[in-house]
Amino acid sequence: MKIEENIPIAKITTMRLGGNARYVITIENEEDVAEAYNFAEEKKLPVYVLGCGSNIIGRDGGFDGVILINKIKGMGEHTKEDEGAIQLYAYSGELLDDFVCYSTKLGYSGIEALSAVPGTVGAAPVQNVGAYGQDISQTLVSVRAYDTKKKEFVELEKDELDLSYRHSIFNSGKEIGRYFITRIIVEVKRGELQPPFYNSLQKYLDEHDIHEYSPETIRKAVRAVREAKLPDPEEIASSGSFFKNVYLKTDKEIKAAEAAGIPVWDGGKIPSGWLIENAGLKGQVFHGMRVSDKASLVLINESARNYADLDAARNEIIERVREKFGYTLEQEPMELGK
Ligand SMILES: Cc1cc2nc3c(=O)[nH]c(=O)nc-3n(C[C@H](O)[C@H](O)[C@H](O)COP(=O)(O)OP(=O)(O)OC[C@H]3O[C@@H](n4cnc5c(N)ncnc54)[C@H](O)[C@@H]3O)c2cc1C
Repeated sequence: MKIEENIPIAKITTMRLGGNARYVITIENEEDVAEAYNFAEEKKLPVYVLGCGSNIIGRDGGFDGVILINKIKGMGEHTKEDEGAIQLYAYSGELLDDFVCYSTKLGYSGIEALSAVPGTVGAAPVQNVGAYGQDISQTLVSVRAYDTKKKEFVELEKDELDLSYRHSIFNSGKEIGRYFITRIIVEVKRGELQPPFYNSLQKYLDEHDIHEYSPETIRKAVRAVREAKLPDPEEIASSGSFFKNVYLKTDKEIKAAEAAGIPVWDGGKIPSGWLIENAGLKGQVFHGMRVSDKASLVLINESARNYADLDAARNEIIERVREKFGYTLEQEPMELGK
């Protein structure tokens, strides 16, 4: 267990903003988890769990607490294959993309559309990671976690996690911060997915005359589609999609949106990228933050000096979209520090 002091949050998050964290502890196995929480308790400091920091934005005042960086590794078969279905496990510090690669190489489908989503396996249930028509709730069986209330490891079944769009008990409600996820189990199946696929993925498959939908083929296609439009966090500072899509709840709202010429998908979803683009903001720079010209939902930190710049940029974008369309965009990444 490695303990470091006064580490900039900017260095451990992909948006590359934020002041210092008092302590940063690297967690390499389950024993480290309990030990790290004890360390924080002795120092009377709050704890925050991080994977790759690709969905967290650091604030300028820093974090007077202990950040646990999760590097717990390992993956394998949890059950034997039975009638084409198998349960696979991954420890939470594995990269989600490596787990997807492991599953598709074995010929199983169920998580291939999550290829190249940045971040760790452990963060996947937190916001119910989703892409190209799949999300982790569709295959997740259970989660193993350190319960800081009971001070022991527990198994949580999927039904206990309240998973929905970008939502779970880990990021919403009274249990926030209670669990350190150490392992997940998913159930995947042999066989091909059936078209039609998510719009941009289907377009890519059609354009490349691909009619064989093995997990490996879909993985490759998803990676190609993503590469063409999403920034690589190693090279470009961003948190991926900065705003959540807008979800309409009533028929009246849907009819009003459609009457105004706004696209409504899947019975109620307005793509926020469309709203931003059609408010004329695509490619524009606000306070050092660029609205990506390839994917309008993505904000890129080109030259923001601090969180305050991002804050100003976000408010301007939200205001411009509200003025034009009447919808208030909500931020997707969480924030850390004061
Ligand atoms: C370029 C880019 C593209 C992206 N594309 C997508 C996409 O297509 N779909 C999508 O859903 N997301 C996407 N994201 C967001 C991000 O990849 C996901 O949210 C991912 O799950 C974050 O993983 P992480 O390890 O970086 O988590 P972090 O950002 O480190 O943490 C995210 C949250 O999870 C909590 N957490 C992390 N690990 C644990 C753990 N072990 N136990 C308990 N809590 C934990 C943290 O406390 C925090 O609240 C994208 C991000 C970028 C930068």
